[in-house]
Parts: sequence; C-alpha cells; structure tokens
Amino acid sequence: MERPHRRQPKGRPCRLAHPRPNLARQRRKVVIRPAAPAARPHLPLRPLWICRTCAAPWPCATARLTLRQEYATDTVALRIYLCTQLHDAAADLHKLHPQNGPDPKALFDRFLAWTPRASL
Ligand SMILES: [Zn+2]
Repeated sequence: MERPHRRQPKGRPCRLAHPRPNLARQRRKVVIRPAAPAARPHLPLRPLWICRTCAAPWPCATARLTLRQEYATDTVALRIYLCTQLHDAAADLHKLHPQNGPDPKALFDRFLAWTPRASL
C-alpha cells in the first residue's frame, strides 16, 4: 500500500520531518565481537566416565549422535572404538569402586547396545 504522494509547493526545498544524518560523514566505532564459542565436544572425563560438557554418563546423548555421524559409513569401526572405551571404562570404574564396580550389562548397554546394526 503506497502512501499518497504529497506535492511540495513550488520553490520550497523538500524538508523531512525527521532528517537523516549524513552517514557518510560519521565516524563509526568498529566493534569486533569474538566469534561464537565453538560447541564444546562431549568427551569423557576419565576416570569418572562422565561427559566433560553435560556431566551425563558418557557417551551422553550428544556424544552418541556425534559418534553416529562420524562413523556413519563405518559402524564396525564405531563398535571397535567403543569396545576399547568400554574396556578402559570398566577398568577405571572398578578401580574407583572395587567393592561394587559397574554392572557389566549396564556398561554394555551404555557403550555398545545403542550402536546401529549396519552402516547407514
Ligand atoms: Zn555430553
């Protein structure tokens, strides 16, 4: 919708109700903002085996998503990697809690049961 055109009387210069400053003559302060912080990786904090970022048991949901993406074409490599992590986690957690160490089935579910069965 267009505003109706108002005619200026002849011989009078056009005057704006809110004159704009001449931006070309202004000195502007350049503000350099730091880049947004990169997303922190969800890596394990050993020997507790919790996520360094969200403190959930590792691999947390974000770590699982990231691992799925990184190993999308090679799920066998993903399982081998997670088996090594499971081995290290079992050793660390048994050292921390020698009397009541982690349940092997719970560790298996946490580290391996969620992995995809075949390459995506
Ligand atoms: Zn996390």
